[in-house]
Amino acid sequence: MRDGGFSGRVTLIGSEPLLPYERPHLSKEFLLGKIPEQKLALRPAAQYRELDVNLELGRRVVDLGLDEHRVLLEDGGTIGWDLLCIAVGSDARRLAGIDDAIYLRELDQAVQLKTRIDAGLPLRIVGAGFIGCEVAAAAVQKGCEVHVYEALGQPLLRVLGPDLGAYLASVHRGHGVDLHLNATSAEADLVAVGSMPRVMNGVDVDGGVLVDELGHTSLPDVFAAGDVTRFFHPLYETRIRVEHFQTSQRQGFAVGRTMAGAPTAYTEVPWFWSDQYDLNLQYAGAGLPWEETVIRGVLARPPFTVFYLAGGRLIAAAGVNDHHTVARARHLMEARKGVTTQRLEDPSFDLRRALA
Ligand SMILES: Cc1cc2nc3c(=O)[nH]c(=O)nc-3n(C[C@H](O)[C@H](O)[C@H](O)COP(=O)(O)OP(=O)(O)OC[C@H]3O[C@@H](n4cnc5c(N)ncnc54)[C@H](O)[C@@H]3O)c2cc1C
Repeated sequence: MRDGGFSGRVTLIGSEPLLPYERPHLSKEFLLGKIPEQKLALRPAAQYRELDVNLELGRRVVDLGLDEHRVLLEDGGTIGWDLLCIAVGSDARRLAGIDDAIYLRELDQAVQLKTRIDAGLPLRIVGAGFIGCEVAAAAVQKGCEVHVYEALGQPLLRVLGPDLGAYLASVHRGHGVDLHLNATSAEADLVAVGSMPRVMNGVDVDGGVLVDELGHTSLPDVFAAGDVTRFFHPLYETRIRVEHFQTSQRQGFAVGRTMAGAPTAYTEVPWFWSDQYDLNLQYAGAGLPWEETVIRGVLARPPFTVFYLAGGRLIAAAGVNDHHTVARARHLMEARKGVTTQRLEDPSFDLRRALA
């Protein structure tokens, strides 16, 4: 909002008592002891003061107060607003009957998990999505016995497909993770089976708070941004929901500018990363269904990239230790440039040439 020229009062209300922090570290560097709790913050407190942003931390909104333009807080307080942005993120999806496991979303749960890992206790994880895989990698590297139960036939099957899924399965097994596929467990220490948008009453919701490309909800003066939204994306001509850091940051930035009176659409190709062992996986695309895949390089020998195509068009790319290729594929998709499958699979063809 400040970037968009807004000079009025900005209040950021958050239920956690901490400065906003980088959640992605919770399943990786924080567990490995590489980034301590004190270094997780997105920005130092001084920067909020410089931006003249009033922080109301450790305060939970229980009602948006849509009629009276005044949110109600759990502690009984109220805060009035002219414009409101709902940015409450996601909750971990819960599994019926497994209530005493850790559901990793916030620092408190990461601290519990780290304590377990540091004590060298065995770890049973249900779900081989990104969070399950990253925690498994951290725990096994710290010497824990790790069992992972995944309901589908490969880790990350829905997003990455069977080839990359099978490769990641072999990587985890190679590091000593006991990976059980097409399997589940009624007992778990960590459940990591995806996340769901946090629902706020009063705005239209369908698999996320519905917003247009500028972040408008169904109500005037009410915007939404980040993981909680299902937003219209002009490139895909449909609404998508993305639960990744860079998209929530970039889309949030665009929505803030719009709220300030400088309408800015989020039109970028979503992008995210995952770190497991010495592998850096990067993905560009919206997780939409694909019809065929093309591989640049050799599947099990990083660096390599898998391209996903639908109707002959490139719609996503996932690379392992191959960030240049993924970045170039992202630019191609943003520019809506076509490229032949021969060129995609030829590592000697620099994808920047297809942009010309
Ligand atoms: C363990 C973990 C690892 C991840 N790793 C990666 C990664 O490697 N790469 C990647 O791209 N993405 C990763 N992500 C996803 C990324 O962190 C999210 O996409 C991003 O945090 C979403 O930002 P957000 O601001 O929309 O929501 P959040 O970060 O969830 O922030 C929402 C905030 O709102 C607060 N809140 C909720 N309800 C209320 C209420 N009623 N009143 C007041 N405050 C409220 C919450 O406490 C929270 O602080 C990871 C997420 C997790 C949990």
